[in-house]
Amino acid sequence: MKKERLLLIILFIFMSLGFRVPFKEYRWDINEANNYLWIKPCARDIVLPNDVDSSDPLYGSTAIIVTTALNSIATDVNSIFASYVRLEIYPADPNNLPPGSHFEIAKAQNRTITVCAGDPSALAGGHSQRFFEGKEVVSCEIIYDPTVHRGVKDYLAMVGHEIGHCLGLDHPQDISDSLMSYYSDIEKTYRLAPDDKLGIRYLYPANVPGVSHKEEATYGLSCAYKK
Ligand SMILES: [Zn+2]
Repeated sequence: MKKERLLLIILFIFMSLGFRVPFKEYRWDINEANNYLWIKPCARDIVLPNDVDSSDPLYGSTAIIVTTALNSIATDVNSIFASYVRLEIYPADPNNLPPGSHFEIAKAQNRTITVCAGDPSALAGGHSQRFFEGKEVVSCEIIYDPTVHRGVKDYLAMVGHEIGHCLGLDHPQDISDSLMSYYSDIEKTYRLAPDDKLGIRYLYPANVPGVSHKEEATYGLSCAYKK
């Protein structure tokens, strides 16, 4: 009887956990002072009908291209409070960088996330795979079902989720409002949610006075999260 109760408590704690980062020891070779990863789309100009909510930063135009959507995902990651990782779009022409670019070809060799549409008949949604040298992540390949080109929400949800995996997030075991959850509703959650952001912050903890980077369950409550 006692044993069963203990088991239940352990099960409850496990199921209540928020973000999951199963392999924290496997890392990109980045740090707070040297913190860029690059997202390289196979095709840059695919047009997505824009169906985002009126509160979304991409609201307004009737269609956008995938590069704009990827840039918006990067902005979400880059604006996570107390997280140091930075994402940037791989330049179309590495010899002719856009203003403000942080791109360096030597660094990008081992710090690129590729994003490509695959064969829809062979894919159930999206897929990402990280590649390692020892415990260092040296690349990540995302292949997704091009059906998501039917709208910006679908694209942001699918590719944002897979970029979460590339950064080291797993699926949380609860039904909280998380882009990494199996249970997220794409109509409502198509961008990184507080639980996902806490996970990224935990993996890439910027040195900010007064901020603890301990892994903490959110229990579905995100009020303590500061943006
Ligand atoms: Zn997943």
